[in-house]
Amino acid sequence: MAQNPLPILIGGVLQDGRGKPITSVDPAEGTPVATVAAASEEDVDLAVERAVAAQSDPAWLRMLPHVRARLLTRTAELIEARHEELAVLQSRDNGKPITETRALVASAAGTFRYVAAVLESSDERLTVPRGQYLTLSVHEPIGVVGAITPWNSPIASDAQKLAPALAGGNAVVLKPAGWAPLISLKVGEILLEAGFPPGLVSVLPGAGGTVGQRIVDHPEVGHVSFTGGTDTGRGLAASAARKLMTTSLELGGKSPTIVFDDADLDVAVNGVLYGIFSSQGQSCIAGSRLFVQRAVFDEVVARLAARADALRVGHPRDERTQMGPLITDRHRTSVEEYIGLGTAEGGKVVAGGVRPDDPALACGTYLRPTIITGVGNSSRIAQEEIFGPVLVVIPFEDEADLIAQANDTVYGLAAGVWTRDFPKAWRTARALKAGQVWINTYKQLSVATPFGGFKDSGSTREKGADAIRAYQRQKSVYVDVSGMPIPWAD
Ligand code: NAD
Repeated sequence: MAQNPLPILIGGVLQDGRGKPITSVDPAEGTPVATVAAASEEDVDLAVERAVAAQSDPAWLRMLPHVRARLLTRTAELIEARHEELAVLQSRDNGKPITETRALVASAAGTFRYVAAVLESSDERLTVPRGQYLTLSVHEPIGVVGAITPWNSPIASDAQKLAPALAGGNAVVLKPAGWAPLISLKVGEILLEAGFPPGLVSVLPGAGGTVGQRIVDHPEVGHVSFTGGTDTGRGLAASAARKLMTTSLELGGKSPTIVFDDADLDVAVNGVLYGIFSSQGQSCIAGSRLFVQRAVFDEVVARLAARADALRVGHPRDERTQMGPLITDRHRTSVEEYIGLGTAEGGKVVAGGVRPDDPALACGTYLRPTIITGVGNSSRIAQEEIFGPVLVVIPFEDEADLIAQANDTVYGLAAGVWTRDFPKAWRTARALKAGQVWINTYKQLSVATPFGGFKDSGSTREKGADAIRAYQRQKSVYVDVSGMPIPWAD
């Protein structure tokens, strides 16, 4: 029997959206998980109207930071209490292995806890005066902010925006990606349960070009925090510029991982495999371009190929699975086209390149981890973000050659360096044009550490002690302490 579409959260009210319904499909089985009564542009307008009312209500606007922090902490507790349910839902929604979605749920709870702590301990500043007055620098909410997120790690991306935006005293209109909207709706419900005033939060699944665009264009939306592809981010920034609105942009990547010939190869091979093939390569920070120093190139490639062939591609709810399915069949086709392009560019597939032959996986959108050698750094598969389990391996001669090749990309999100020589690791880390560099490890993240990209990977930072400030406006206040009139007017 067909289920009624799930309602969405419009300004704190669970009600049907008026847009085209969206069905989330479990990529492991090809079966529908749920259909959502998605938002329309009119629903954005209604959500913003309710958001303006809720945000300007003194009950919220004057709420002291330590009281607001309690709501954030309560949210963390509720996420933790529903940990397994949320991890399973996230896995069904986007196909990530359950071991990864558990970590994402824990990270979302950790984000709310950390931001609560930052909020309680953030000082305003007394600045140095140049006369008989006190000068203060204070921070105030922007008002209504938009948050637009992709499908690959929704609960973590949502938390990274919702927690600091709410901590900053704003209302938030969140638009998750169409392919995986379910977890964001759950997070919206949890925020209501935690006691955030109704109206303050909306979760509006819907089409990017209409619902997302309306959020960006709405005159009452004062800031948009976006995570997604570079082309989408560029268009969004252009729209934002028309109304002189600030944006936070976390965009795509084509991150280099680097193995010097003096590296501990066991550690390096593990790190490289995890860097590219966890999350099926559908990660902004996937280490998708591997540079290996010539002397160890053949050995590293042989080891990687053998280990990639042994990775367990399987059902995402199987605890042993290392790689689940890709998000959709269309996306898998796009990744396969890139593999075809790689061979057309002269590349050699040394691992994978095919779908798994296990009949139990035939209904899902699986693809074996794929390694390609024999193409240069200027090839399209080395330059374009594939967002799938495809690793391109390229040799380098020395540090100068390595830095030139690694930085020869429009992106600048992340990089990984493996070497036993610390001064060399440090030099390399500082020479790489990337927002995150890992030395002898990869894809380790802390909410206390700022995250963001260089170049076409983005321009702003999330996380860290300044996260809340991205959702606030700074104001300077001068207070006379002389008790005297300004002499000019005498
Ligand atoms: P996408 O750019 O297609 O979509 C991202 C979001 O933007 C979705 O919610 C989409 O509906 C919305 N959108 C699309 N057009 C819009 C418009 N005109 N106005 C407003 N919103 C619009 O990206 P995706 O396919 O969902 O995600 C994959 C991309 O995200 C990859 O490029 C990946 O690298 C990037 N990503 C970056 C980070 C990071 O932190 N830097 C993290 C995760 C993913």
